[in-house]
Amino acid sequence: MGWENDCPTAVHLPPIPHKLRELVAERASHRCEYCLAPEPLSNSPFDVEHIHPRYLGGADDESNLALACSACNGSKLIATDALDPLTGRVVRLFNPRIDRWADHFTVQTASGAIDGRTDIGRATVDRLRMNGPRQRNARRLWIFLYGYPAAPPSLDPEIEG
Ligand SMILES: [Zn+2]
Repeated sequence: MGWENDCPTAVHLPPIPHKLRELVAERASHRCEYCLAPEPLSNSPFDVEHIHPRYLGGADDESNLALACSACNGSKLIATDALDPLTGRVVRLFNPRIDRWADHFTVQTASGAIDGRTDIGRATVDRLRMNGPRQRNARRLWIFLYGYPAAPPSLDPEIEG
């Protein structure tokens, strides 16, 4: 489940229990809490990500967990802050447990790019490499299919994480 199980210092830590994973996924409406990618339209389950990394002592508590697509999780790694490309200041990353997505991000419907509306939003877009060609192309398709960044209209209850 993501890079953390490949990390030599974390490899002996127990995996996130299934019920806790389901709680995190349901709470997130099965969308990546960073880029709002829809898990039901992915060909693999999303990761349960530690906002404050396990590697740095972050707990397995639900208040420290977020659902993240592999693109976001694979770029975030153990980062907790990043450079705002506009101001050059280091700021904390977006925290799905305390921040509202729409306060920090907006979507360009023509290009599929996510723009940061705040220093936290800009730093998170940059650090998580949210605007690569694959991400933008996928978003343009989701915009066409169901009006991303809105939630997909229905979720298949048979899909398990
Ligand atoms: Zn994502």
